[in-house]
Amino acid sequence: MCSCFEIKVKGAKFGPRTGLLSTGHGVISSPFFMPVATKGAVKFVTHEELQMDMGVECLISNAFINYLNPGLSLIAKAGGLHKFMGWDKGLFTDSGGFQLILDHFVHKISDKGVVFRNPFDKSLELVSPEKAILIENALGSDVAMCLDHQPVFGKSRTDYLDSLIRTIEWAEVCKKTFDKNENKINKKQLLFGITQGGVHIDLRVKAAQALNEIGFDGIAIGGFGIGEAQRDMYNVISASKKVIPEHKPVYVMGIGSPLELLNAVGCGADIFDSAYPTRMARHGLIFTHSGPLKIDRGVHKQSFVPLDNECGCFVCKKYSRAYLHHLYKTHEQNGLLLLSYHNTFFVTNLMKNIRTSINEGTFWEFKKDFEKKYVGKS
Ligand SMILES: [Zn+2]
Repeated sequence: MCSCFEIKVKGAKFGPRTGLLSTGHGVISSPFFMPVATKGAVKFVTHEELQMDMGVECLISNAFINYLNPGLSLIAKAGGLHKFMGWDKGLFTDSGGFQLILDHFVHKISDKGVVFRNPFDKSLELVSPEKAILIENALGSDVAMCLDHQPVFGKSRTDYLDSLIRTIEWAEVCKKTFDKNENKINKKQLLFGITQGGVHIDLRVKAAQALNEIGFDGIAIGGFGIGEAQRDMYNVISASKKVIPEHKPVYVMGIGSPLELLNAVGCGADIFDSAYPTRMARHGLIFTHSGPLKIDRGVHKQSFVPLDNECGCFVCKKYSRAYLHHLYKTHEQNGLLLLSYHNTFFVTNLMKNIRTSINEGTFWEFKKDFEKKYVGKS
C-alpha cells in the first residue's frame, strides 16, 4: 500500500478531495498544478518567483531532454537535477512520452522502446523502458514517470488498444527496473504508471486495472490536452477513479486551463501539469476572473486598468493593460515576463482557492461562482 499520499478532506465518493503527497523534497498539498520546466526552467518565470511569490511546491521537467542536454554526467556532477536547477522543492520527471506525438522527435516506435531523433544533433537514440527509468533514477526527481506510448489524437480504437498494451508491457519493465536499481540518488523517489486508451472508457479502465496489479505509487492519466472533447476527458477521469484504489494519487497529465482544472478536480483528480498558462501568455492570451482576454486587441490600447482587478499579483497591482499591450505589440521581452508571471500566478492561486474550498466544504459553490464569472455561465 502506498504510504506517500494521505487524504485530508474528501466529500462525496470519487469527488474532489485534498491530500498531502510526501516526497523526498517536502510534503505537497493537493490538488496541485505543476508548472512545466522542460529543460529545467519554466519559460519566463524564475524559481524564486514560483516559490517565494506563488508558493509553488512542485515542478515537472523532461527526463529525456535533460539526458540529451546537458547530459547525465554533468547533472550527476552537480549532485542531481534538483541541485543543478537550484530547485529544492518537489520535482516530477516525465519519461518523454509526450514527445511521442511529435513527429520530428520520433523516428520509430517498437516493442523495444522509442527511437528518438536528438533535437540537438539529429542523431538517433533508443529509449527503452529500462533506460527511461535509469535516466530518471540518475536525475533524482521525486516522482519518476513510466515510459508510455501516446498515439496521435484521432487514431482508431485498434491503435489506442495497441498503444495501451505496449504501455502496460513497458510499465511492467519500468517497475522491475525501478525496484531493482539500488543506486537511486533520491532514495525516496516514487514511481507513477500512466494509462492510455484515448477516450475509450473500457480501454482506460483496463489500463488502470493493469497498473493497479503492477503496483505503482500513483496513477497518471496520459494522452490529454491534444484535441479531445473536454466531456470525454472528464468521463475518462471519473471512470478511472472508480477502479483506482482511493489511497493512490491520480495525476491528469497535460491540462492547465482554469476550467479544465476545476472540472478535473471535481472528478477527483489530484495532480496536473501543463505548459498552457505560460504558452498562452506568450501568445497574449491572459486569464482573468472575468474570462480570458487577448492583450493584443486594440481595445486595450488606452485601458488604464489592471489585467484582472481580482488578481493579487504584482503585475496586476502595478501595471495597466495599456502598458502591457504596448510591450506585447512592440515585442518587448519584459512584456512576456510580466504576462507569464500573471498567468502562472493566476493558476497557482486558483489551485490554492480550490484547496481551501474543498477543506471548507464549499467546492461546488466556488466552482459555480468561478465559472459564472469566467464564461458568463449561470
Ligand atoms: Zn495578476
